[in-house]
Amino acid sequence: MKEYGLIVVGTGAGMNVVDSALERGLKVAIVEEGPVGGTCLNRGCIPSKVLVHAADVIREAEEAAKIGVSLKVESVDYKRIKERMWDIVLTGRGEMETSLKQIKDIDFYNVIGTFVSEYTMQVGNETIKAPRIVLASGARAQIPPIPGLDKVKYHTYRTVFGIEEKPESIVILGGGYIGCEFAHFFSAIGTRVFVIGRNPVLLPHEEPETSLVVKKRLSKHAEIHTGTNTVKVEGLEGRVAVTINDPLERAERTIEAQHLLVATGVRSNTDWLKPEKSGVKTDDKGWITTDQYLETSKPNIFALGDALGRNMYRHTANYEASVVRNNLFEEHKVTLDLHAVPHAVFTNPQVGQVGMTEEEAKQGRKVMVGVSRYFDSAMGYAYGDEDTFAKVIVEYPSRRILGATVVGPQAATLVQQIVNLMYSETGTYAPLARAQIIHPALSEVLVSAFGRLRPANFEPEQHHHEHSR
Ligand SMILES: Cc1cc2nc3c(=O)[nH]c(=O)nc-3n(C[C@H](O)[C@H](O)[C@H](O)COP(=O)(O)OP(=O)(O)OC[C@H]3O[C@@H](n4cnc5c(N)ncnc54)[C@H](O)[C@@H]3O)c2cc1C
Repeated sequence: MKEYGLIVVGTGAGMNVVDSALERGLKVAIVEEGPVGGTCLNRGCIPSKVLVHAADVIREAEEAAKIGVSLKVESVDYKRIKERMWDIVLTGRGEMETSLKQIKDIDFYNVIGTFVSEYTMQVGNETIKAPRIVLASGARAQIPPIPGLDKVKYHTYRTVFGIEEKPESIVILGGGYIGCEFAHFFSAIGTRVFVIGRNPVLLPHEEPETSLVVKKRLSKHAEIHTGTNTVKVEGLEGRVAVTINDPLERAERTIEAQHLLVATGVRSNTDWLKPEKSGVKTDDKGWITTDQYLETSKPNIFALGDALGRNMYRHTANYEASVVRNNLFEEHKVTLDLHAVPHAVFTNPQVGQVGMTEEEAKQGRKVMVGVSRYFDSAMGYAYGDEDTFAKVIVEYPSRRILGATVVGPQAATLVQQIVNLMYSETGTYAPLARAQIIHPALSEVLVSAFGRLRPANFEPEQHHHEHSR
């Protein structure tokens, strides 16, 4: 049995806590089943954005005609796009591997780690133990029980980045953010794309108007079926045949394609980890449960990131790692603050969102909602993009921002301005109202949305004069 000061399971955001342990002179065991760097680096955010940006450039070129510039995309070098993608992944991975080897107080176990008893894990042939453990064990693709799926070759986000030749056609099962990002990429490079979503809308967790715009735009380039059941999947001489039941069509239909990508959600990795053997509780789906300090039901075992089964974004995992880093080692504990969790979906158009949707905000509060189209501000007009918008949701009468959505060019960057306001002292939009806003930048779309705030679920009081706070 080897004893350590800290065991970390998972090399995504889990790595963020390692330095603090080393600084305190602790020996650290790091346990990782897959490539170093976790999902974001190896098969998530980073490679997917290299692909999506290429798709953005293609669509921008194609759509430039409407602002009076005719461009033709001459060719798409799939190999070059992939090369650039692997470059950033392998460089990042290589740097991490080097530092894991060089730091003498780290032992790296490249195997599945499984708890065998309290604070004790089996890693390959060895048993390791530590008084402090961080579980950053993430999630993996969930495979739905569709008849025939287990008999065909399909991709998940674990393998899709490895497709060697530009696909001629692909069926994407799932209309969530992974489905919508890959639909954008593959359709833009000229692959015939079919998206099959069981939910009645694409991106069901977004505002309904976001789902509509994304469906409208992706439908120009891909065949999208929402509210659709997948009846069965069959293999056909190296191709796949997916039989669907779309309520808008009268009969079942079979779609044939070269590839199949299953992007129907994720499941917990705790079947590998067996945290219950160390007294760590999970919910009924296997996601690890914690208190507001991110400590699990077992003292000094903390969990963070996708392993918690909510807000599955790398920036949330990083933030949670900073909470864990503090609470592992400091007297003064910090509590988790999830009042303004942002995210983006890098599809066509780009989506940025933070906090509550309008529907969520209306539960038990008076809210004001303001919507502005990009087209209504000078730079938005210059972009020539008519479907795109910003929507802000504010509590009445406090003016505290509850949430926002931006759909259009630079949405992720624009919504960050609202995230930052939500982290200001009062959390209101007052700083934006006082600030000079660079004219005529896309930021004016946000100002204009706040300028259009109207009561959404209450009657405005008559003769009421609001005072600035
Ligand atoms: C295609 C795709 C695109 C994405 N795009 C974005 C994006 O644009 N922005 C964003 O914020 N997020 C994005 N995400 C989500 C983001 O990647 C995750 O939220 C983030 O990586 C979670 O980090 P983590 O540290 O919690 O888990 P992970 O990075 O998944 O790390 C967990 C690691 O633990 C290992 N592991 C688990 N159990 C064990 C065990 N028992 N023993 C040993 N090792 C184990 C796993 O192998 C894994 O490497 C994307 C995800 C995907 C799949």
